Amino acid sequence: MANTQIAAARSGTITEEMERVAKRENRDPAFVRQQIADGQAVIPANRHHDALDPMIIGREFATKVNANIGNSETTSDLETELEKLHTAVHYGADTVMDLGTGSDLDAIREAHVDHSPVPIGTVPLYEAVKQAGSPEAITTDLLLEIIEKQAEQGVDYMTVHAGVLAEHLPLTDGRKTGIVSRGGSIVARWLEEHGEQNPLFQIYDEICEVFAEHDVTFSLGDSLRPGCLADACDEAQYAELDTLGELTRRAWEYDVQVLVEGPGHVPMDRIAENVRRQQDVCDGAPFYVLGPLVTDVAPGYDHITSAIGAAIAAQAGAAMLCYVTPKEHLGLPDDEDVRDGLAAYRIAAHAGDVANGLPGARDWDDALSEARYEFDWREQFSLALDPDRAREYHDQTLPEDNYKEARFCSMCGVEFCSMRIDQDARADGEMAQLAATTDLESSPAAEVNLPPVGTHDAERSTGRDVDE
Ligand code: SF4
Repeated sequence: MANTQIAAARSGTITEEMERVAKRENRDPAFVRQQIADGQAVIPANRHHDALDPMIIGREFATKVNANIGNSETTSDLETELEKLHTAVHYGADTVMDLGTGSDLDAIREAHVDHSPVPIGTVPLYEAVKQAGSPEAITTDLLLEIIEKQAEQGVDYMTVHAGVLAEHLPLTDGRKTGIVSRGGSIVARWLEEHGEQNPLFQIYDEICEVFAEHDVTFSLGDSLRPGCLADACDEAQYAELDTLGELTRRAWEYDVQVLVEGPGHVPMDRIAENVRRQQDVCDGAPFYVLGPLVTDVAPGYDHITSAIGAAIAAQAGAAMLCYVTPKEHLGLPDDEDVRDGLAAYRIAAHAGDVANGLPGARDWDDALSEARYEFDWREQFSLALDPDRAREYHDQTLPEDNYKEARFCSMCGVEFCSMRIDQDARADGEMAQLAATTDLESSPAAEVNLPPVGTHDAERSTGRDVDE
């Protein structure tokens, strides 16, 4: 039997990792075990990742956020890469993907695993291109060798672009932006050159065996995800999704855990459809979405365009959101971009959890709101999603210590602070008196506001005959 979380769960065992995530999420360990056994959630926990604090990804649990880091040809040193990991974890990343394509990939990956309390993900295809020298020079032996090496190094989950098949490529012909997934474009190039089936698809069973040995989780790549609104939900995207459903079931046969990746760029009104379709086609395997961006017109603000889509996806059942930074489509993000991207995505994830009634999710909002109404500024800062940012903004206009007790801030000022006015009114009994003496039925306000529901009555509000 495979030595994986899903194998243990299926045999009825509650592992240490399941106990830990149950505690972190305030859930029953037996429920966690059942979710893992059914493939509805995953605990990415490579057996060689000693520094890991296990976490769980599934629609029944808190929505998670991934941050991508990694070097490129131009920036490559170990210290900088470890700093990037630190920044991502500090600002709240639940998992980190090392997408490095520069030099010292092994040393950097090993250092990431050694120092990371969160799961580390990779895309082995990138290292294969690097070693082979070009996409078309990749061989199945090389792919398997790299995947095995990364599994031994302790990588917790890997993006495997096995779902794009040769027969899917013609379906992308009429697209506005073609194939935008980096891995997808590499596989497509290989397919065109060799005239054979996707090499990752060819060796899928061998990959499952490696993953089963080390407990690596699949993150099945969506090579044909749309790169713009015009290409969203097209035949190519959904044809690949069908293959991802088949690959999910095949991995489960090997007792290997599976995440499924999703788009991309999708208009708001079609995001829930995407989530429902993936959940249906992939038998409820956790959905891990990139954004999606809900409009293509805002380069420089794509952490916002995509966080809107991510919040809708989270509410619809996506389990993990891959962050997008303001630099998306424009350049390599720096620390401040990582901070802004993670803040946007943690907001999206939490908003989804609140909307879904995840047990305990609203408690955070309620605690902060109470501190706000109490003018407990220090408590507000410490409860804030980004405490440093909140404190910094307050300090910009009211830096002195005494303002941390003040019953106003510089936004409305002392005279017009609505919360202070409201509190004072309640304190001296004015509110209670108003409630006792006001007859809403006979108030002129009631007349103006009627009817409260239904179609707008133009004649009533304008006092004119609408046919005039
Ligand atoms: S001044 Fe305005 S923004 Fe500031 S605490 Fe009062 S109501 Fe809130």
